[in-house]
Amino acid sequence: MSELVRKDASELSALLSAGEVSAVEVTQAHLDRITQVDGAIHAFLHIDTEGALQAASVVDSKRAAGETVGSLAGVPLGLKDILATKGLPTTVGSKMLENWIPPYDATVVTRLREAGIVILGKTNMDEFAMGSSTEHSAFGPTHNPWDLERIPGGSGGGSSACLAAFEAPLAIGTDTGGSIRQPAAVTGTVGVKPTYGGVSRYGAVALASSLDQIGPCARTVLDTALLHEVIAGFDPMDQTSINAPVPAVVAAAKRGDIKGMKIGVVRELGGEGYQAGVRQRFDEAVVILESLGAEIVEVSCPSFDYALAAYYLILPSECSSNLAKFDGIRFGLRVGDDGSRSVEQVMSQTRAAGFGDEVIRRIMLGTYALSAGYYDAYYGQAQKIRTLVAQDFAKAFSQVDVLISPTAPTTAFKIGEKLDDPMAMYLNDIATIPVNLAGLPGMSLPIGLAPEDNLPVGMQIMAPAMADDRLYNVGAALERALVAQWGAPILNSMAGV
Ligand code: GLN
Repeated sequence: MSELVRKDASELSALLSAGEVSAVEVTQAHLDRITQVDGAIHAFLHIDTEGALQAASVVDSKRAAGETVGSLAGVPLGLKDILATKGLPTTVGSKMLENWIPPYDATVVTRLREAGIVILGKTNMDEFAMGSSTEHSAFGPTHNPWDLERIPGGSGGGSSACLAAFEAPLAIGTDTGGSIRQPAAVTGTVGVKPTYGGVSRYGAVALASSLDQIGPCARTVLDTALLHEVIAGFDPMDQTSINAPVPAVVAAAKRGDIKGMKIGVVRELGGEGYQAGVRQRFDEAVVILESLGAEIVEVSCPSFDYALAAYYLILPSECSSNLAKFDGIRFGLRVGDDGSRSVEQVMSQTRAAGFGDEVIRRIMLGTYALSAGYYDAYYGQAQKIRTLVAQDFAKAFSQVDVLISPTAPTTAFKIGEKLDDPMAMYLNDIATIPVNLAGLPGMSLPIGLAPEDNLPVGMQIMAPAMADDRLYNVGAALERALVAQWGAPILNSMAGV
């Protein structure tokens, strides 16, 4: 393995700007790594060798000509296959869009390209971002680099796995109920779901529009912050985009000083139902935060007990509406259109062929929850819980600066283990869903390996809206203390592929 692929984005950025290595060399090293390991990992659905090398050589020419380039220029990235990329397939992990080549770039993609970040390819995901394991991808699962028989989380398992397998130092994910944070937790990487409206969703295929948010993934808190600043900020193409300055996340990640901060441990997240080793590592990390000068208090958010149930009504309701456009007529796949069938028959055959079981399950649930006579009892009640969740957060943040919890109840489970049990799969998101319902930012960062299985455990940090910088400040302080204690970043202890 080339030494270059073990370097994080900040280290590569320093080497590139010092002229010690070229962007083409860095990109080629990562492409070689992908060739070497992705057969076993399957983090990527498409690899854009030509486009990546071309983008890298443009960065090299600009540097040679003395032009100023962004600090991450020449650093490679894996892009979740939910973001539209001009001229490159965008499948959303679904047969429905298997052959779609978008004619435009998502805003985030435009910003990545303008920053000179090299897009290596598109990463695997659960179909239409529905899932917690990447097993619902229509193109086969992604494997966790810590143990190839285990899941890398989901829906953005490709993005987290490509970081852990040293195929890319940066990745982009989307998080509707945990799809950035839970994969980060189970692969020993860092992921952030920004404040709702903090990053433009223009060009991201919608799952549940009131919950979806695009965010940065990396192997360190600082790298995640650097990527956050590239993609965040106002975009008139997204009606929910916030027109305000981006929180100073890079400065916060460099600061990492939590002396005098008040940190709340959420009583409802982390007790019964959480793996013993997850709880143990979490409790130890809390002690470290205290030793760094933070005041720790327990905070109760009673409505969080109902957040998962509310989410699984709101999300299916919104996705049943968003996915109605994939009807075999206007977008994507069309099946059975041989002139002998009615429009309804073609629609029905197309959907049966194009959508997987989980997608169909959610469309049916959502259609039911929104139907006349049931709307108030299901969707209406769920919206009331959503309000209570936001109120519990507001109350908590009147007492503390950030809230913390384990990110996921367990470490990575075995491929196949929860596939036949949708409820067991949904429970992975028990701790990550509340911030999506309230539109708040959340981070997951590695806090060690669970003693019973030697697999990574993540801590979740949550902050008020537009206080994303607090996540990075607390995350950086904790990361620094933990890496000092371990003597090396957590991925160094991975047996590896
Ligand atoms: N696992 C959650 C779900 O299946 C989260 C999805 C997401 O964040 N995209 O809905």
